[in-house]
Parts: sequence; C-alpha cells; structure tokens
Amino acid sequence: MPSESVLSELLAKFAATYGRDPAVVAYAPGRIEVLGNHTDYNEGYVLSAAIDYGTFFAAAPRDDGTARLTAGDIMETVEFPAAAPERSESASWSNYVKGCVALLGDRLGPPDRGFDAMFLGNVPLGSGLSSSAALECSAILALARLRGASLPKLDVAKMGQRAENEWAGVKCGLLDQASSVFGEKDALVMSDFRTCEFKPVSFPPDVCFLMCNTHAKHALVDGAYNERRDRCERAARFFAAALPHPVSALRDVSWDEWTEHHGDMDELDAKRSAHPIGEDERVLAGVELLREGDAAAFGRLMFESHESSRTYFENSCPELDAVVDAARGVPGVLGARLSGGGFGGSAVVLVERRAAETAAAALASAYARRFGSPCDVRAVSCSEGARVVRG
Ligand code: ADP
Ligand code: MG
Repeated sequence: MPSESVLSELLAKFAATYGRDPAVVAYAPGRIEVLGNHTDYNEGYVLSAAIDYGTFFAAAPRDDGTARLTAGDIMETVEFPAAAPERSESASWSNYVKGCVALLGDRLGPPDRGFDAMFLGNVPLGSGLSSSAALECSAILALARLRGASLPKLDVAKMGQRAENEWAGVKCGLLDQASSVFGEKDALVMSDFRTCEFKPVSFPPDVCFLMCNTHAKHALVDGAYNERRDRCERAARFFAAALPHPVSALRDVSWDEWTEHHGDMDELDAKRSAHPIGEDERVLAGVELLREGDAAAFGRLMFESHESSRTYFENSCPELDAVVDAARGVPGVLGARLSGGGFGGSAVVLVERRAAETAAAALASAYARRFGSPCDVRAVSCSEGARVVRG
C-alpha cells in the first residue's frame, strides 16, 4: 500500500470538500507485467504483479440521487445523476469511474440514492503502471460496498476492463485489472487467459523490481498493435491447418512446432507468432524457476523476452533497448525487458534488493548519457491486491 500519507491527504480533502467523512474507502494498486508479452489475446499466460503504488477511492452516500465525483489531485469535480451517468468530453478522467457506476447499476439494479466521492493515488498516470486499472478497481470496490454489495474478484476485474473499453474508449485486455485485483504480497500473479485463472506464485524476498519509464511514445501504435493481432490470428489459422491437434489460438502451439513449421509460413506471420509462442513457454519455465527460488535464471528469461520483442515482434524502441542494454552491465541486475504493450513506455528490471539503489542511479545516468535526460526509475515491490480498507 502506498504511504498512509496519501490516505490522510484524501481524507482531509474529502472532509474539506464534502463537509463529512467517507463511509467507505477502497484501495487498488497499479501493476507491472513481468513476463508474457502480448500473450493475453492469444489465450496464453502472463506473470505480473500488483505493486506498492495505488489509488484510494472514498465515498459517502447522499440522500438525493446526485453523484459528485472529485479527482483529488487536480481537485476537479463532476456532478451527474447516479442512476444515469453520461460520458464526459471535457473531464475524460471521470469516464473511468462513470463506466464503473453504470456497470454497477446494470449488475445491482439502479441505485436509489447518489454519493459523494473522491479519489487520490500515487501511480504516475500514463507511465505503464496502470493507474487506470487502479482507479477502476478502487471505484468498483468502494461503490459496490456503499451499496452493501461485495463482488467476486474476477467480476471486479472484468467490470473495470469493460468500463475502460466502453466508457474510456481504451482497448485493453484483462491483465491490468486482474493483476490489481489478484495481487498478493511477495508474489507474482500467474494469469491464464484461456481459463481466466489467476494464481499467486511466491517471489524471492531478496530481489525486487525497478520500473524505468522512458516517457517515449512512438507514433502509429494503434496501427502496429492491430498488425500484430492480425498476424497472430493468421498464424493461429496456419497452425490449425498444419498441426494434427486442435489449435484455436497461439497458446496451443509449442516452440518446437513453431521451429518445425515456420519455414512454410508467411515470413512475417512466422516472425510475429514466434513472440507469444516463446513467451508462453518462458512464463511456464519462469513459474518453475520461481518455485525453485532461482531468481538469476528467471532474470535471464526476462532478457530473452526482451530480445524476442526486439527481433520477432518489433515492439521495442531505441529508448527501451537502451535501458535493457544498460541493465546488462549494472551490478546486481538479473534481468530486464519492456513491460506492457511496447513501442515506448516502461522497462522492468529485476535486481537484487541490496543493489537496487545503486542500480537505479546507474540506469538513470546511463540513459541520460544516451538521450540527454534520465529516465524515471522507481523501485516497486510485489504487493497485496485491491481491497476495501474502511467501511
Ligand atoms: P496508465 O494506466 O498506464 O497509467 P492510461 O492512459 O491507461 O495509463 O490511464 C491514465 C488515465 O487514467 C489518465 O489520463 C486519467 O484519465 C485516468 N486516471 C487514472 N488515475 C487517475 C487519477 N488518480 N487522477 C486523475 N485521473 C486518473
Ligand atoms: Mg491503463
């Protein structure tokens, strides 16, 4: 959980704005993607973690049907009928929460009264740590509790994803919300996107992660993303015809099968599909290595994952490559790779805990030597997932 000071600040601002204390407060963390890149829509596996940065969402019931919602960092308030939220053009941040309100209305029936709410967090926005999932999941938990309901974790995650897809207009898979909801302290979350099972995998206590935000954003991300998805689907159709067993997604194809058949495929389909197929195998191998407590070998899989992104999927960029290349030479670093969609954003670095501080400084200055200014580096720990903390 982020420092109690975020919660204290939220409670003080809530009281000053609404003249009373909240009846409920929920918390949801951001997340990092550790291994398993672009595997979710190929029905594969991901290892991720909830982190010790997150968002608090506080709410109190009202006697009328009005909903008042304040973003605690910018202190901007929107007002809407709790039973009939509408998408906002000007306050786009509010759509993440309005979507949650609308979907909770579908699930629990229209609310008979409104609420006053405010949220505040310390997940940097738009840096690949999923402040959006932290906001959605904390809002759903708090507003459900305010209505006396408690939803299964998977439903919270799916509702958050739908709010983001349909209300914020962001195409995202379920990974961010599932990681925020199913996170556990000192554990990674192993996600299976075919069965929608999410299980904790213990993580060695003597290592931690550094997130390096390059702030790079490369153009044509939507086009490139769609191209990758199309190629993966075409490759799955190729393997469905070529292999003797059923293939409904790349999840069903092994690396050995790829190696045997890729020469018969369209060259680019072969290249793109190598990445999710290899990633699935690395995730499964990584789970075993963590069970054995072998963080060093796990780190090598992270470097392999990045190399696969760079060469096969081509979703890296010079900034991310620079972080990963620099990480290879930093004492205490065990692995590094891009984290999330790619084409910019953040890289995740696995480092021995005792070397984390010096490694962070070394990475920031190596990046600055190359690009003129340092990337943002922050240490993150695997932390407990979303929960109601008050009320
Ligand atoms: P990421 O999830 O990687 O941080 P996104 O672009 O998916 O990046 O989500 C960021 C958006 O979520 C912000 O632009 C804002 O609209 C909304 N948001 C999330 N958390 C907050 C917050 N604490 N205050 C205001 N807006 C927030
Ligand atoms: Mg997001």
